[in-house]
Amino acid sequence: MKWIKRLGQKQKGKERVSIFWKIFAIFVAFIAVVLSLLWVFQIGLLNTFYRSIKISDIENALKDISDHIDSDDLGSVLRSVANDKQICVTICAPDGSILYAIDVLPNCVIHEMSSYRLARAYELTKQNGGTLVERTMFNERKNQFFLGEEDDPNQIESLVYAKAAPLQNGGEVLVLLNTSISPVVSTVQTLKVQLLWITVIMVVLAVIMALLLAKNLSSPIVHINQSAKVLAQGKYDVEFKAGGYREIAELADTLNYAARELSKVEALQRELIANISHDLRTPLTMITGYAEVMRDIPNENTPENVQIIIDEAKRLTTLVNDVLDISKLQSGTLPFNGEILNLTAQIREILTRYTKLTEYTIVFHGQEDVYVYGDALKLSQVVYNLINNALTYIGEDKTVTIKQILTAREDGRQRVRIEVTDTGEGIEQSKLNDIWDRYYKVDKNHKRAAVGTGLGLNIVKTILDMHPGASYGVKSQVGHGSTFWFELNADHVAHMPCIEDNSGEA
Ligand code: ADP
Repeated sequence: MKWIKRLGQKQKGKERVSIFWKIFAIFVAFIAVVLSLLWVFQIGLLNTFYRSIKISDIENALKDISDHIDSDDLGSVLRSVANDKQICVTICAPDGSILYAIDVLPNCVIHEMSSYRLARAYELTKQNGGTLVERTMFNERKNQFFLGEEDDPNQIESLVYAKAAPLQNGGEVLVLLNTSISPVVSTVQTLKVQLLWITVIMVVLAVIMALLLAKNLSSPIVHINQSAKVLAQGKYDVEFKAGGYREIAELADTLNYAARELSKVEALQRELIANISHDLRTPLTMITGYAEVMRDIPNENTPENVQIIIDEAKRLTTLVNDVLDISKLQSGTLPFNGEILNLTAQIREILTRYTKLTEYTIVFHGQEDVYVYGDALKLSQVVYNLINNALTYIGEDKTVTIKQILTAREDGRQRVRIEVTDTGEGIEQSKLNDIWDRYYKVDKNHKRAAVGTGLGLNIVKTILDMHPGASYGVKSQVGHGSTFWFELNADHVAHMPCIEDNSGEA
């Protein structure tokens, strides 16, 4: 079934367009849109735009003049309309007598009009509700006006706008404006040739640029993809080269980091398998050997030999438990069961289990009962692992000291710190960070370290990371011993007035 799925994924991948062609297509499409817009606006809609601008000019001019008909600066308004917008102006009385006239167009319609026609225009405007719009065509070649829509490049459209403007003295005047809309056919022709050249040049440039850009953008991704495929084959020494872009450089850095971590984990895992098989074999050989001796040789069925078998079986159990614990913790199958618990009581309870180890001394200093929020089972595993390590690497004095210290936080609440100290061989400063890694053992040849799996401290770290506000660490000096510690937020503290000295030996 798996291979069908993978095949499906591969086929899906094949259907997808490569990043190179995608970037190329987007760039070319963008240029095509820009050119199309240029063609539509410059060629297709040029006449429409030009005409609507002219119409809005004359409409605005008519309004301006009507608004200023009584004002002193009417003259300057008329001049600006005429000169800036190329509009002819005539203002006449209802009887057709001209009051103002500015002529700026060669074939102005309104300046040809007699007083009689002007008076007539006033009447028509009044009949039409106060405004009138007339449209005529002037044929430059034939030098004559006519009405209609003849499609001739030589014809100029002439627009006449008329408005009856009331005066303050109760009278009225007629404002007549005339503008001409020249044909844009020849302009369009020129633009067409220009745009054709622009289009050809742009298309060639766009294709070249799109190819360059697409190659430039996609090549680092293609390289990273190739390296990722090598990584997927398990070759962790592959190097992800960073391209010229920040995001790709960051991706390459992340993948390089991931590759390094993977290779570390793989090396550690290989080592673990070697260690575990060695660690499993040793107790198994001992168990089988002693059991056979006890079976075959009379008088060898002694309690000492049985104890050796029991001890070796225990070693096996610890090993298997560690491996199981870490895989459960990492896979999240062991959920965090938080509750308020008496940490001090829990440590004391754990210490009672070590009373049989008469050759060691475990001292506990704890003045008060400290309650914390945590997972009881998991916290006791943390304490166990730290004590077991301290016993494994115990010093000449054969003593492990556990201290419970209360510290005040900035917000007034308290924190509890548990320190587990031994006076053994200590750990080199350079190794202090690594010991928390999974499968890490400082000295694999050390006869006592050979017992461990290199998982104990990783279990401690994983559990404490689950606890809100927890911190942990180690202080160590080679030849003088180590102090492993962890801190949690104290929920509350119960003082024990009747117990004078709380320190004692386990
Ligand atoms: P192990 O099961 O091997 O003890 P741990 O994860 O508990 O694995 O410890 C990792 C390594 O850290 C150990 O192999 C040991 O070298 C070092 N270490 C841990 N605790 C101590 C200690 N109290 N004193 C010296 N070295 C220690």
